[in-house]
Amino acid sequence: MKYNRILLKLSGESLMGKQGYGIDTDRLNSYALQIQKAVNNGVQVGIVIGGGNIFRGLSGASKGFDRVKGDQMGMLATVINSLALSSALEAIGQPAKVLTAIPMFPIGYPYSKWEAIKAMKEGTVAIMSCGTGSPYFTTDTGSALRAIEIEADVMLKGTRVDGVYTADPEKDPTATKFDHITYEEVIARNLKVMDITATALCKENSMPIYVFNMDKEGNLEKMLNGDNVGTLVD
Ligand code: UDP
Repeated sequence: MKYNRILLKLSGESLMGKQGYGIDTDRLNSYALQIQKAVNNGVQVGIVIGGGNIFRGLSGASKGFDRVKGDQMGMLATVINSLALSSALEAIGQPAKVLTAIPMFPIGYPYSKWEAIKAMKEGTVAIMSCGTGSPYFTTDTGSALRAIEIEADVMLKGTRVDGVYTADPEKDPTATKFDHITYEEVIARNLKVMDITATALCKENSMPIYVFNMDKEGNLEKMLNGDNVGTLVD
């Protein structure tokens, strides 16, 4: 395998599958199987999941919610998704541990870098929830932070597109994909890889980002084998 330890970011939206809301169990089970395969291949796996399928603080604020409370609701949404993924992993015999940046034992264990690393070294998937634990951040920034903290070799951003494009490929049919791009270019071209805070954090700490389509089954394994299935940002 190309990488020994990975941080995989899954968006909450991708968990919706075709449903348009909530958690699609087929999608969840497909992710669980791919993650288990990576662990079986000797890769230490840490995961951060978003909460956009349930609640986002920013859109809540536009409807009159207090932003901080809205963000706290969003962070709780990431816990719901994390519990769902841990349950799907355990159902197929893959140990998983939910860690929460905001203490809420026994729903999850309090997050620390060392707890996460200990779990991963034992072959348990460490699912780090609540993003950064603070409002006004996103789970992209949370995953950049966790990737750096747990000393991952790469931060994988699993999306529903094949990588980073010159424009949004779902809107612009002439958009072309990059195999490789620098952090500077991503920021200068305002490409929607991750938010600027997350990209800047990765840049400052030399954390490579790999963007790929996690919804194509087998893609995670291909990526870990070194196949060019997405875009490397470094
Ligand atoms: N959130 C937060 N702090 C964090 C991470 C997330 O307040 O460090 C909240 C924020 O409201 C965000 C929501 O949780 O909108 C869900 O996360 P995100 O939007 O990143 O989920 P995704 O787009 O990946 O599904």
